[in-house]
Amino acid sequence: MYDYLVVGAGLAGSTIAERLATQLGASVLVIDKRPHVAGNTHDPVDADGLRYHQYGPHIFHTNSAEVVAYLSAFTAWRPYEHRVLARAGDRLVPIPINRTTINTLYGLDLDAAAVARFLADRAVPFARIENSEQMIVSRVGRELYETFFRGYTRKHWGLDPAELDASVCGRIPTRTGDDDRYFTDAFQAMPAEGYTAMVERMLASPEIDVVLGTDFAAIADRARFGHVIYTGPIDEYFDCKFGRLPYRSLRFEFETRDVGYVQPVGCINEPAIDVAHTRTTEYKHLTGQTLAKTILSREYPSAEGDPYYPIPRPENRELYRKYANLARAQRAVTFVGRLAEYRYYNMDQVVASALATFEDLASTAAAAS
Ligand code: FAD
Ligand code: UDP
Repeated sequence: MYDYLVVGAGLAGSTIAERLATQLGASVLVIDKRPHVAGNTHDPVDADGLRYHQYGPHIFHTNSAEVVAYLSAFTAWRPYEHRVLARAGDRLVPIPINRTTINTLYGLDLDAAAVARFLADRAVPFARIENSEQMIVSRVGRELYETFFRGYTRKHWGLDPAELDASVCGRIPTRTGDDDRYFTDAFQAMPAEGYTAMVERMLASPEIDVVLGTDFAAIADRARFGHVIYTGPIDEYFDCKFGRLPYRSLRFEFETRDVGYVQPVGCINEPAIDVAHTRTTEYKHLTGQTLAKTILSREYPSAEGDPYYPIPRPENRELYRKYANLARAQRAVTFVGRLAEYRYYNMDQVVASALATFEDLASTAAAAS
């Protein structure tokens, strides 16, 4: 008998399990079908001692002091500000678009005010911004949209930006100055010993048992648990009875090179449609390791494979709503996380959502006792 079963040992499941065990003294069984904890943030070390992110680059950034305070109980941090260059012809230029991007591409020497005018002259106004194409074209015009966004997005999502919510490409800002950081959040850092070590500490309470390599479908005696926290895909929980929710997947190709560094920055993006991969990550920039070799990954988007990205567009949101209605009626099950809420969440948003969900569970438990 356990008070709670947590399905999924990613950040959502691990945050809730930790809170339930340490704040309520509840007994918790955490299962994951994968052979490791930390979900998509899993970052093992290879035979050469190089740390890499098995499911693609994960950079922690947040404006939430609450999330930083919570996670800091389980990890020290290494300051890291992520930088990305995008290939445009034979040049590598900063993305998000900034003053350097414009001056390099067009052979100009504009100051920030002139870059703002340059972009305003090209930007196309829309009465209402309804999709990712309009979002970018309204900021930088059609040419820069084609150069940096159209091909990358079509490769990454298998959809044209016009078919995706404005919020998808809207994640990438436009700058007129020299700031070349990918994120501008108040807190930007990597867990000093990696995400997996941080999650292992979250799950270290004696009230928590962790069983890996176990699918929820294999748990026949569900009556053993007072309550279930489910962080897997919501459609799978309901046997996809309304049809499958679409997810985008990725295939990662890893390569170790016998040199110190290959790239000047953590990621190089490949927006050209005729280059199959979307980006190459060199993990030593993220981890700060100082080994003689270096490990890189190339990302190849794919419709098949593990569900990584919920696809934000109106018809998918409609389908999700049908599952969410069923989920609300499940009084003994709580759905939380990127897959269970079908939301394009960053890590900090997942932790914030799990902390809020825990507060709800704690009030319910208090009311019942
Ligand atoms: P997950 O990490 O997916 O964990 C869910 C777990 O549930 C998985 O381990 C899965 O195996 C398990 N599971 C599912 N179904 C079952 C089942 N039936 N039985 C048992 N176990 C099950 N966020 C950032 O903030 N910064 C970034 O730079 C960033 N980069 C990203 C790059 C990529 C390529 C991807 C895919 C995501 C990125 N994210 C990033 C988002 C981040 O990964 C998520 O916000 C976060 O990890 C989601 O945590 P989660 O616990 O909801 O889901
Ligand atoms: N994007 C793009 N070109 C780029 C970077 C991003 O078109 O060089 C678009 C693409 O659709 C991507 C979205 O902007 O999915 C959000 O980018 P982000 O880097 O936040 O994606 P993630 O890290 O979630 O994969």
